[in-house]
Amino acid sequence: MPAVSNVLVAGAGLAGTGTAIALAAGNIAVELIDISPAPTALGSGITLQGNALRELRRLGVWDQVRAQGYSFDSLGLRAPDAAGTLLVELPDVRSGGSDLPATVGMPRPALARILLDRAAQAGVKIRFGTAYTELRQDDAGVDVVFADGSVNRYDLVVAADGIRSPTRRLLGITHEVRRTGMGIWRAFGPRPATVTRTDLYYGGPAYIAGYCPTGEDSLYAYIVEDARDHTALTPQQQLATMLELAAAYHGPWDDIRAVLTDPSSVNYTWFETHMLPPPWNRGRVALIGDAAHACPPTLAQGGAQALEDAAVLAELLLQRPVLDDALWAAFTARRFERAKAVVDASNQLAQWLLNHEQGDVPGLAARIAALVSQPA
Ligand SMILES: Cc1cc2nc3c(=O)[nH]c(=O)nc-3n(C[C@H](O)[C@H](O)[C@H](O)COP(=O)(O)OP(=O)(O)OC[C@H]3O[C@@H](n4cnc5c(N)ncnc54)[C@H](O)[C@@H]3O)c2cc1C
Repeated sequence: MPAVSNVLVAGAGLAGTGTAIALAAGNIAVELIDISPAPTALGSGITLQGNALRELRRLGVWDQVRAQGYSFDSLGLRAPDAAGTLLVELPDVRSGGSDLPATVGMPRPALARILLDRAAQAGVKIRFGTAYTELRQDDAGVDVVFADGSVNRYDLVVAADGIRSPTRRLLGITHEVRRTGMGIWRAFGPRPATVTRTDLYYGGPAYIAGYCPTGEDSLYAYIVEDARDHTALTPQQQLATMLELAAAYHGPWDDIRAVLTDPSSVNYTWFETHMLPPPWNRGRVALIGDAAHACPPTLAQGGAQALEDAAVLAELLLQRPVLDDALWAAFTARRFERAKAVVDASNQLAQWLLNHEQGDVPGLAARIAALVSQPA
């Protein structure tokens, strides 16, 4: 008998859908709720590293991810000069195993759809536009009071409700997220033929300018600068601001600028980070994914770490007979140091850029690639 028989998962992002699918596939009754009225998955594209692909394959969606994404195995570094000179093409580590590509780029809404369809197929009951207002737990379960006043009882609540996690507040956790001082422009658009992998340009008017192909016909492009308040800009002005910064970058960026014409495809976000000290549970309520730890996307590992949390928690819940301190200790042992290493390294990279300091970037990237190449 698994440790739980019915579970409520709050948050239909990568952590929440991953947990819901893995538990439902193990014959646990799972309800998945999300406060948004409908699936949104804002933010254009996502770079999925091999260790994220390994978890997506375990969830049974690799074929769809491969078909709808864009796979590649190298990373280019280019100069912010008039030719966009290619400095080096680095073979990327296949951290998910030699039978998976190093990286897949995907439109975020496509990934969200694939995971939600798989969850429904596995028997997860999915409700959007739903949140809870109160969690009352005792030794045997959690009574969850929903916003419409209804109450239901579960063996476990998994809160995968994102970086601002309302559940942290409900649990009395006062821990706050921190801004890193950087902001990122992201735009989604058609893929020019010259874009076949991620290239990064360090320096120029921004810290990083880069892009990632997300399908035969799509890509996302991004520029990381100092965090600024751009909230007063209209979508048209946002596009113009991003294009103005992008004008300093050449090579494939010349083709990308030419096709970035849709103001509604541009968004601007500040980088934020936090690391919740262990344990990530309070009794029968657990926090995972960005609700427990978040990093600036300098290593593109946040989504992978969210999926790994989901996989490890589901595995322990399915394999162990009781939900006790030993289970939570095993979860901490497998997740805390690994996620912290990724968060710390992502912040270190961001800090070197902010300080205009030449850190050992290849060494740090190799250390994290070796770490995440080991299954979680
Ligand atoms: C600019 C940027 C770029 C990034 N790029 C990458 C990348 O390329 N690769 C990568 O691996 N990672 C990347 N990340 C990180 C990655 O996006 C996150 O780590 C990952 O999406 C976290 O997933 P999650 O499921 O924990 O949280 P989220 O995706 O934030 O999902 C949380 C869900 O909870 C829901 N919710 C909120 N409150 C409630 C509530 N009260 N009740 C119910 N539901 C609720 C929300 O609606 C949401 O659907 C990036 C992050 C940023 C900021």
